[in-house]
Amino acid sequence: MAGGAEMKAAASPNVNGNFDPTAIEVEPLPPVLSEHGVEKPSEKSREIVLGRNVHTTCYSITEPEVNDEQIGDKEAQMAAVLARYRKSLMERTKHHLGYPYNPDFDYGALAQLQHFSINNLGDPFIESNYGVHSRQFEVGVLDWFARLWEIEQNNYWGYITNCGTEGNLHGILVGREVFPDGIFDLRVKLLANKDKPAILNVNIGTTVKGAVDDLDHVIQTLEECGFSHDRFYIHCDGALFGLMMPFVKRAPKVSFKKPIGSVSVSGHKFVGCPMPCGVQITRMEHINVLSSNVEYLASRDATTMGSRNCHAPIFLRLHGAGISAMLNELSSTVVFERPRDEEFVRRWQLACEGNIAHVVVMPNVTMEKLDFFLNELVEKRSTWYEGDVQPPCIAAEVGKENCFCALHK
Ligand SMILES: *Cc1c(COP(=O)(O)O)cnc(C)c1O
Repeated sequence: MAGGAEMKAAASPNVNGNFDPTAIEVEPLPPVLSEHGVEKPSEKSREIVLGRNVHTTCYSITEPEVNDEQIGDKEAQMAAVLARYRKSLMERTKHHLGYPYNPDFDYGALAQLQHFSINNLGDPFIESNYGVHSRQFEVGVLDWFARLWEIEQNNYWGYITNCGTEGNLHGILVGREVFPDGIFDLRVKLLANKDKPAILNVNIGTTVKGAVDDLDHVIQTLEECGFSHDRFYIHCDGALFGLMMPFVKRAPKVSFKKPIGSVSVSGHKFVGCPMPCGVQITRMEHINVLSSNVEYLASRDATTMGSRNCHAPIFLRLHGAGISAMLNELSSTVVFERPRDEEFVRRWQLACEGNIAHVVVMPNVTMEKLDFFLNELVEKRSTWYEGDVQPPCIAAEVGKENCFCALHK
């Protein structure tokens, strides 16, 4: 490590020599900020709770000294910093519940590839001059998805993206290129714009509430409004549930046998890839309308396909405990009242929006983990609402029938 920049634990006072790598720092809570950045203890209007400012705890980079005689010390120090970081990753992973990532993987066999700068620059089907690539795996993965979404090998084009968002942007871009004058809007606008083609994004699982659009119903509506199949482009955002829906019997099937234009998924969510990535697949005929020299930056290695089986028994438990909660049809995202204690929110890494929070039941989430979480929630919650303090009303978010606030229970 003598030649490179090194890390120093700036914020930890006892990092030198013999500090305890197992020590886990207690995280201070961030102040609640108002719009103007002023601290405000208000309870009435909910402000966005910002995360901790990382700048107070980051590791600063130290330049190596010319005659560094303490290289051994520094290496020991760095090993200790990494050991502590690993420990905190293990601890944080144990309490991860709100974000739909599936850390249930062991890609140890791929560790031997860490020494290479593998990069699939450009089109997956055409080799570039850069030879350190993984196209042979990438195209195999794409073929698998093409089979899943029922499109012939010669009729599709796609690539491994860096994330689900990139697939969505790409899908909508293709739609716009196919229909430069297209209307990209909700179906109420269809009838008012019958002279123009339509570009739609169908959501296979929304981020916060896990709602699943009915693809078949959308297609039917388009047809009923007089839109023939060559007059609309549908992109399916399967980032969240794209790989769960094929296993849900009642779910409308995402398939290129239907008049859809493209589908994308996130690879680090359901499948459980250790690094962010995604898959985007569209029809070959569409990709030809894109200018040929757009440079697509593809992700990298191929991953084995992950597990299936996802359901949300947690929902019933919440209602049983008198906690407002909702589960959208076909979904594994349980929406419930935002825990009052930000420390609890941070501990369980719950994603919150306004008065609601959610738990996304991914394949790594075991019954034990859910039980542990629910017991803690029920126990802590009993101390949050005493006297005049009432649980929030979330009827607007989850419907009156799912709300157990003072007014609706
Ligand atoms: C997570 C998610 C995205 C974004 O995917 P990334 O892989 O994080 O970029 C887009 N849409 C929905 C519905 C999602 O759940």
